[in-house]
Amino acid sequence: MKTLVINCGSSSLKYQLIDMTDESVLADGIAEMIAIEGSRLKHKPEGGDKIIIEEPMPDHQKAIEMVIAALTSDDYGVIKDMSEIQAVGHRVVHGGEKFKSSVLINDEVIQAIEDCADLAPLHNPANLIGINACKELLPNVPMVAVFDTAFHQSMPQKAYLYGLPFEYYNKYGVRRYGFHGTSHRYVSARTAEILGKPVEELKIVVCHLGNGASCCAVDGGKSVDTSMGLTPLEGLIMGTRSGDIDPAIIQFIMDKEGISIDEMMNVLNKKSGVLGVSEISSDFRAIEDGVAEGDKDAQRANDVCNYRVAKYAGAYAAAMNGLDAIVFTAGLGENNPLVRQEICEYLEFLGLKVDKEANKFRSKERVFSTADSKVAALCVPTNEELMIARDTKEIVKL
Ligand code: ADP
Repeated sequence: MKTLVINCGSSSLKYQLIDMTDESVLADGIAEMIAIEGSRLKHKPEGGDKIIIEEPMPDHQKAIEMVIAALTSDDYGVIKDMSEIQAVGHRVVHGGEKFKSSVLINDEVIQAIEDCADLAPLHNPANLIGINACKELLPNVPMVAVFDTAFHQSMPQKAYLYGLPFEYYNKYGVRRYGFHGTSHRYVSARTAEILGKPVEELKIVVCHLGNGASCCAVDGGKSVDTSMGLTPLEGLIMGTRSGDIDPAIIQFIMDKEGISIDEMMNVLNKKSGVLGVSEISSDFRAIEDGVAEGDKDAQRANDVCNYRVAKYAGAYAAAMNGLDAIVFTAGLGENNPLVRQEICEYLEFLGLKVDKEANKFRSKERVFSTADSKVAALCVPTNEELMIARDTKEIVKL
């Protein structure tokens, strides 16, 4: 069964075509600058060269048409015609409290995703555009929605409620939802496989450290707490997002700088985090290089970011009353040995010991704690697309 996985953003559309008989990726790519000047499709067939097709894409429907054309092309395609696409799995960012797992998409589900849009105004409408465009172009192909929030719906109330008037939860659904759920679910399940233990018996902290970053406490295979909240702004210090701050800072800075709430939110989302603290870059590779050269601005950003992750990991060890494994994933978690090392050092009091030699690698599935470490330390490259395709296969039952 060949499954098309779609991750639709407001101006981009990432895709993978996966053969679910052996979970091999047949092709992947991204349509960029949709509805913007300079739109292009980058398409890579498995084992072949990446090709770039520059063509105007006025909307997402045109983008999906181009994806299908690339997948079925005589020159660089991987399937004969689009009838080989037997199912489509869509990443959807916010499923609110309604969706606790992935679902087959029908009109009612589309309406419910629309109803969650005020919780994720940048993401859900874009996800819906992708769903509707596929519905037009592949009308008879079953589609599944896989939500970033769903894995965290197992959190207990004490973890998801804020210290705010309870009526805001009742009236508006103001609570912690958490994101990156598909990644946390994949990585925690894979960790159990690597450690050769049932996930039900493990207490795991997953550190998903990319441009967006979050920690998740996974107890017995279920998310019991996570660092992102009502929106993906809370928690860790990210590429350009502040993560946790004293909420009173917002009014304080607005008064001092004479800026509006929209400008302030733009500062918190786009000008803070690694970029804001370092005044160098939002990309941690520049921070890594700076630290190696003794640059104090880079060192400052490195220190505050790692400290914040370690604080969350420590808090989650308390929340779960124990810790069996800490796992690193996403761009930074997979590729930065120094970040992994420094975060793990904060957890030595739990009996975590890193094998420094074993930790010298980028982007591999590996245990890098010592044999006598009481807590296992691992790197597990995330694979949200595969998780989406697996859910799709299971729900569509082809
Ligand atoms: P997102 O998907 O949230 O946009 P990623 O998971 O791609 O983000 O992570 C981006 C971060 O990972 C950046 O800070 C970048 O510096 C870091 N990163 C990605 N690839 C590498 C690499 N090969 N070496 C070092 N750091 C990397």
